Amino acid sequence: MEKSFNYYLNIAISSIPESLKKPFFSGNGRYCPVCGNRLRRFLSYGLPGMPARPDALCPICGSLERHRLAWSVLERKTDLFDGAAKKMLHVAPEPIMERKFRQIAGLEYLSADIADPRAMMQMDITAISLPDGTFDLFYCSHVLEHIPEDRQAMRELLRVLKPGGWGVVMVPIGADRTVEDPSIVSSEERRRVFGQEDHVRIYGPDVRQRLEEAGFRVESITAGGIAGAREQQWLGIAENEVLFLCTRPIAQ
Ligand SMILES: [Zn+2]
Repeated sequence: MEKSFNYYLNIAISSIPESLKKPFFSGNGRYCPVCGNRLRRFLSYGLPGMPARPDALCPICGSLERHRLAWSVLERKTDLFDGAAKKMLHVAPEPIMERKFRQIAGLEYLSADIADPRAMMQMDITAISLPDGTFDLFYCSHVLEHIPEDRQAMRELLRVLKPGGWGVVMVPIGADRTVEDPSIVSSEERRRVFGQEDHVRIYGPDVRQRLEEAGFRVESITAGGIAGAREQQWLGIAENEVLFLCTRPIAQ
């Protein structure tokens, strides 16, 4: 996948030692669940050309709202940290999350990407060259909006999960219903219609039905689903982010 501005920003922030950053940003106003640091606040942030969001970027680890929501959900809603042996697939690995996943006890970690040389395996997620039921869990965030055959990718993610296994899917939700048009191929048109030049659609909340049609049992989780208003602010998790916790049913 084309690497985004966020990806390089994250590498840049994480390359500065924590000991240099902490004196500037430590405080009691916010808490980043990804890096475990107490902060005065998160920084305002937006992609170049987009409006900046307040309270978005962790100055220590580079996490954004979606990373902190995901980490909070992983901690509160899954068995990821129970120490039992598990195999995990991380699709299009974000450095910040990869570093954290690699520290989890019992986790056998595999990262995969169609092009990124940092990933451990080159993989087209519409045709995964691994056997059925390989993984206990996967993490696939902000990937499907880049993939023309997203339904096929969803079926493949289901296939490589063990029955009873689960995965995290996140995509940007920017419309009331999903809009896609394969005739839109130019960067300018894609930016105008889908919101980013390398996106092939703009999703609505109905992405949940696509995941269900692929065979997953799906739980949609927002910030409000795991924390009250004060705690959402404390964690810097925005109400408009949605995480789809997708389970492969045991009987299938
Ligand atoms: Zn952080």
